[in-house]
Amino acid sequence: MRSGQPRLDLEGALIARDRVGIQDFVLLDAFTSETAFLDNLKKRFNENLIYTYIGTLLVSVNPYKELGIYTKKQMDIYMGVNFFELPPHIYALADNAYHAMLTEMNNHFFLISGESGAGKTEACKKILQFYAVSCPTSSLLDSIRDRMLVSNPVLEAFGNAKTLKNDNSSRFGKYMDIQFDRQGEAVGGHILSYLLEKSRVVHQNHGERNFHIFYQLVEGGEEETLRLLGLERDCKHYSYLVQGEYRTVRTINDKNDWKTMRNALTIINFSEKDIEHLLGIVGSVLHLGNVQFEADRDGYARLSSKAELRWVSKLLGIHVQVLQEALTFRKIEAKTEEVLSPFSVDHAIYARDALAKALYGRMFTWIVNKINDSLENLDSSKKTVIGLLDIYGFEVFYVNSFEQFCINYCNEKLQQLFIQLTLKSEQEEYEAEGIEWEPVQFFNNKIICDLVEEKRTGIITMLDEECMRPGDTTDITFLERLEERMGSHPHFITSPRSNMKQLNWSCFRNLASYLLFIIPGFIDKNNDLLYRNIKDMIRHSKNGIVRHCFPPTEVDSKKRPETVASQFKSSLAELTEILMAKQPWYIRCLKSNEAKQPGRFDDMLVRHQVKYLGLMEHLRVRRAGFAYRRRYEVFLQRYKPLCPATWPHWKGVPAVGVEKLLIHLGYKEDDYKIGRTKIFIRHPKTLFAIEDAYEICK
Ligand code: ADP
Ligand code: MG
Repeated sequence: MRSGQPRLDLEGALIARDRVGIQDFVLLDAFTSETAFLDNLKKRFNENLIYTYIGTLLVSVNPYKELGIYTKKQMDIYMGVNFFELPPHIYALADNAYHAMLTEMNNHFFLISGESGAGKTEACKKILQFYAVSCPTSSLLDSIRDRMLVSNPVLEAFGNAKTLKNDNSSRFGKYMDIQFDRQGEAVGGHILSYLLEKSRVVHQNHGERNFHIFYQLVEGGEEETLRLLGLERDCKHYSYLVQGEYRTVRTINDKNDWKTMRNALTIINFSEKDIEHLLGIVGSVLHLGNVQFEADRDGYARLSSKAELRWVSKLLGIHVQVLQEALTFRKIEAKTEEVLSPFSVDHAIYARDALAKALYGRMFTWIVNKINDSLENLDSSKKTVIGLLDIYGFEVFYVNSFEQFCINYCNEKLQQLFIQLTLKSEQEEYEAEGIEWEPVQFFNNKIICDLVEEKRTGIITMLDEECMRPGDTTDITFLERLEERMGSHPHFITSPRSNMKQLNWSCFRNLASYLLFIIPGFIDKNNDLLYRNIKDMIRHSKNGIVRHCFPPTEVDSKKRPETVASQFKSSLAELTEILMAKQPWYIRCLKSNEAKQPGRFDDMLVRHQVKYLGLMEHLRVRRAGFAYRRRYEVFLQRYKPLCPATWPHWKGVPAVGVEKLLIHLGYKEDDYKIGRTKIFIRHPKTLFAIEDAYEICK
């Protein structure tokens, strides 16, 4: 609000509010019921206002259509403007985090959460674009900025896939730090990736696809590229691509995406050799999928045809005979010699798929490292960072396996972090301002996190024990032990014994439907073992990336590698540490409808998400004591037109001006508290109407 603006028409503002809802839930003066909450979201959504605040938390509802709100002009509008002076926008958060970082010289991060398809990855990209466009930059740093931006199409090509929930679903977790120097220039970046869903390489559920890169390459790859890789331009030739029976997707243009991705590789400094080796791996995985086995007279596996294996051999630079042996025999170390034991057909298929997954998974890690090299900032002077956390959201499919177990566990951890940080910051702010803290009741999901990760008795520990236990351990023995030990846990339910293949696990709070985990595969996926002779073979590959990904030190090591769940648990613990040391900003993304349709708001679906994301609880925490707080100067600047004593200028102590203003608006002594630097208001009714009026006037 600039001082040249007219005084506001309060009555008009109230009428307008009825139409477009209120822009900050904290200001919702009605009884804070879920219904009122939803009603407000829906009103706004229908007016194409997808963003709403709860204090400084941003709620975003996926519109499934372009709204024209991410233009350069919009960025300019939000740059350097105080948070509440403009309608809610993701740019407002981005800009405020940036300025807070520069003035306070501290680190910040964005926690972006919501279920699959709710808009997390898009939100992350919008923030990155905002910084890329709006931060000052010298020409020297232009290249860093470009690389940061194009790292997205590369990571999405290799790490995203079409699922039932989202046509461009991230199948890995990502945390990206953007580093800024003291002048606020983006000078570098670093990406951490989490648990890629490797099983997708060899298996996709109905209606889903493999990772985008395969289709991009087959559909978009240049003739010469395909020729060198021995690939045909038709996805249906490749058994790893046809299982989900879903090859083309309306919202995806594989050909164009290939071009973007290919171009990005060059910008990120991948050499021609790197690219050749990279595509060699992608191609070899496709060929591997087509390697078929049949049983010989003794029932052992032998190749049905050698043609496919020859291509794998050529692309990986491994002798075809060696490759064949590794896929059909297992080396067993006896006392004095090594014995080759032939595989059954099932075993051979298992070994083949394990190889494909290992190749793809390690290649992905290599890509992330390569991108990090290109974003590395060599200047050692003091920097501050803004982190973006975009991790796979809650997922409940008809069949939920080990992957959903990990993904949903991760979401519980982040919810836990959110609860801790919100309450902590609330408490700290009250203390810092010298105002008494009133504790709030809320659901703490620690009990669920503990159920999964507790050191001695948690599910992960039990799973690991089962994986390490000598003898005949199977998914069924794992399930039996779970039942034995967890049977009485309030958040754990198992299915009837007659149906041993399934495990009902209701550990995720507030979810209306129970999560049904299908246990078969847990032990295997957690072990993620690659037969020793396959590792032996692959380290001699002539493909530079492959060799790099399977270092001799690992092959020679006698130590048992950490299980997948344990690794994931420790990386989440590390991530939590990284985040706890930074200032949080929250974005909660909501899915408007399951059909991915523009402009449709499904009440039930949204209500469900509002529930399990704990938005009402967050609102309660925010409203419990003093719903509203602002620095005196900011408050005055914003509301001074409402009172003759403060309009057009207040020359005295800001706190006194603020109190004058409040008294003028009819607030009673008990309605507000004067903090050290901020005004705290219990239920700011009038102000909210004005906020809306501002929004409408824009
Ligand atoms: P998530 O990462 O939460 O799984 P995405 O960010 O990939 O979800 O979003 C899924 C799809 O929803 C996107 O591909 C896009 O079509 C649409 N979408 C998400 N956010 C927006 C937005 N702010 N505006 C328009 N469309 C959006
Ligand atoms: Mg995503």
